[in-house]
Amino acid sequence: MTKKANNENLMIVIMNHDATTENIQAVVERLTEHGFDIHKSTGAAHTVLGVVGDTASIDPRDYELMEGVSEVVRISEPYKLAGRLFRKEDTIINVKGVEIGAKEIVLMAGPCSVETREGIREAAKFVKASGAKILRGGAFKPRSSPYSFQGLGVEGLKYLREAADENDLIVVSEVMDKSDLPVAMKYIDIIQVGARNMQNYSFLKELGNMPKPILLKRGMSATIKELLMSAEYIMAGGNHEVMLCERGIRTFESYTRNTMDISAIPILKSLSHLPVVADPSHGTGIRDKVAPMARASVAAGADALLIEAHQDPDNALSDGAQSLWPEQLNELVDQLKIIARAVDRTFL
Ligand code: PEP
Ligand code: MN
Repeated sequence: MTKKANNENLMIVIMNHDATTENIQAVVERLTEHGFDIHKSTGAAHTVLGVVGDTASIDPRDYELMEGVSEVVRISEPYKLAGRLFRKEDTIINVKGVEIGAKEIVLMAGPCSVETREGIREAAKFVKASGAKILRGGAFKPRSSPYSFQGLGVEGLKYLREAADENDLIVVSEVMDKSDLPVAMKYIDIIQVGARNMQNYSFLKELGNMPKPILLKRGMSATIKELLMSAEYIMAGGNHEVMLCERGIRTFESYTRNTMDISAIPILKSLSHLPVVADPSHGTGIRDKVAPMARASVAAGADALLIEAHQDPDNALSDGAQSLWPEQLNELVDQLKIIARAVDRTFL
């Protein structure tokens, strides 16, 4: 945890075939003024400048605009702490004895929202019975409409905590605003950052100071690199316990609510050492498509699953259409145990 970020961030500048000696010199001088080491190679047609140093803060476009420059290419990724270069081994996040990122794949399940005290207690019971270790439930809900159920707020967090404690479960829940962090810290074990907040940089900076693991959801229009840069924001503040969550992205496809980007799972696993969580509930938005995408996620290398389940999904206050019935959750768990074995993992 005390390891320093690798500050070597390589970049190369490729000059045009007709770049003049003055053009090349101007680029070299500008880079040298900024403290970079330049390695110049002159080929038959092009001069290539290798830039060594911490180029993460450089905007390549500033150099692309210079006369005689053909292209500026980053060799190292701008995410230093979240990348495999910083840490080769997988990060394992231990939350009250539950390890996320280890050989065992972890199940996080529960309703979209905490609706009533009794409701979440009932949910916690069937979630526990399914074998899940972590109870989900939103108390602060980011709804597309201001007229939809907004969540019970702090009262919901209290109910969630009580239900989890009764069943020896860990709690994951979304916080949307930094003003809610102090109270949320009392009740939540893993702070969820919702898709809509993935690029709320002042909030991410705040989370960098929090002594709690963060489940960072991919924004619905965010690239994999942007997700990693958001993780970087939290890590740069000192909190290295970040889980990356694929929850579907917005595409031209309209059959599903979102397009579950299964390929993001192995890509994130190779680019980053952080645990990867798959959320096939928001990833599809359709109840009977959740299980196939959950199975695919485990096969693709997910370290944990985040699944919405409800004892009475037809009457849920949010996301009922993508929530599994308790029996469906149990059936899925049995299938995932088999798939996990095929990829040298265990499930529950
Ligand atoms: C949720 O988990 O219920 C949720 C609102 O997720 P997302 O931010 O991915 O839409
Ligand atoms: Mn939901």
